[in-house]
This record gives sequence, C-alpha cells and structure tokens, in this order.
Amino acid sequence: MSQKINTLFDSHMHTPLCKHAKGSPLEYAQAALERGLAGIVITDHIPMPAWFDAPWRMALSELDRYLEWVLQAKEAMQGRLEVRIGLEADFHPGTERFVEKILGRYPWDYVMGSVHYLGAWGFDNPDFKEEFEWRNLEGIYRTYYDLVAQAAQTGLFDAVGHLDLPKKFGHAQPALELAIPALEAIAAADMALDYNTAGLRKPIAEIYPAVGLSTVAAQLGIPFVLGSDAHAPAEVGYAFEEAVQTLEGIGGQIVTFKGRARV
Ligand code: ZN
Ligand code: FE
Ligand code: FE
Ligand code: ZN
Repeated sequence: MSQKINTLFDSHMHTPLCKHAKGSPLEYAQAALERGLAGIVITDHIPMPAWFDAPWRMALSELDRYLEWVLQAKEAMQGRLEVRIGLEADFHPGTERFVEKILGRYPWDYVMGSVHYLGAWGFDNPDFKEEFEWRNLEGIYRTYYDLVAQAAQTGLFDAVGHLDLPKKFGHAQPALELAIPALEAIAAADMALDYNTAGLRKPIAEIYPAVGLSTVAAQLGIPFVLGSDAHAPAEVGYAFEEAVQTLEGIGGQIVTFKGRARV
C-alpha cells in the first residue's frame, strides 16, 4: 500500500445506540489505534421522525448521549488518535426538514446521506430480501438512483453512503449506465462517495461502490472517503489495504471531512 496506513481515517462506524452494533466509541477508537490508523469518524445512524425505521437507529432523546459518548472517546484519545463526530443520515423524501434540524444541532465533522428505503421497503434488511424476487432489478436500481440524485440535490450531505447498496444480497447492478445521472448529481453537488468495505462481508462480497462505478466517479472528479461501516470494534479498518490498492489503481482521490469541510 503506497499510502501509509498511519495517514488513513476510517470514516464510517456505529455505536450500540443504533440497537444493532456492539462496542463503545472508546473501543472503536482503541481498535483503530491498534490497526495504526490516524483517526476515525463515528457515524451512527441519525435519529429520524418516529415513524421511520425506529428499531435501527438512535432515538432523538439519545442524541445528547451520543455526543457525550463520542466526545469522551475523543478526549481519552487526545494526542494518540484523532476522533471526529459524524452521522449516517438517511435520505427519505419528506424527512429533509427533520434531518436539517438535527444537522443544525451540532457542528458535525462529517455527514453521509444514505438511501436504505424504496418507499416502505427497507431493501438492505435481510428480513425483507424476498422482495427482490417480486420486482424488476433494473427498476429497483432506477428508483434507487433517482433517490440518490435527489439526496445530492438537497445539499444536506457531504457524501453518499454505500452507493450501490441494492447489490448487498447478490443482486449486482445490471448496467453501469443506471448510475450515471446520480453520479453527475453527486459531482455537481461537490460531494464525495463513502468507499465502504462492509460489502466484502456481505453475500455480494464487493466494496461499495463496485470498481466500474468507482472508475466513472473518479473520472468525474468525485473523491472517496474510506469507511469500514463497522458495527463492532474488530471491523475497524476492515480490508483497507485492498480498498486503497483499488482506489490507487483507478486514480481515485481519498479524502476525509472535518467540520463538514474536505481535508
Ligand atoms: Zn447500521
Ligand atoms: Fe447504511
Ligand atoms: Fe453504516
Ligand atoms: Zn451504513
């Protein structure tokens, strides 16, 4: 790896406040230190309106606890590892003003916008993957990328989370072209892409986004933010050697965010 591990950040990880991750922020930070990383950004699932996906995220009433918990880890790691504070926000039409209000409540370092729902269907939830049998795959990707383009146009987010997420359970994107308008919207909004190694741990066994998509993104000048999407401390920095090697091969630029500005 020509880019040294001790210059890299892992900018995507969760906490138990989202009800499906293990380990305290300090434990994630310690894992990053052991892996030799320069820093981390904790990006737990944002609170959303009460009706939206409540079992998979922190409640609004826990937001202060989240900040306190991450700030404690930041303090404890002072001088050894940089700890930044972020969120994995959801883009779901109609919730923009709620999300905007949460984003205004704290000077976050980094906010991803992720699409996890097509209408009422949580398409990345293994309990609902049978739905892939009932729908046309190209239609799924068209609807999905239309939402991603809308997310980019809101101006609320620094990066798009796990760009080609519908492939998670093995339903690879049928045509690269389906993503072009969304990639153009991302470039026009001067946003980055979460370069997410969690896909390697899923049935598709690929980083999000796939190499072809990432190549087009790099050609459009879109930079990448490395993230393991760790839901346990042992996953911090997962497969970063492979991620960096792939990005270097396609001429992708690696960036991080601090105070919502690109570093
Ligand atoms: Zn999660
Ligand atoms: Fe996500
Ligand atoms: Fe995540
Ligand atoms: Zn995620």
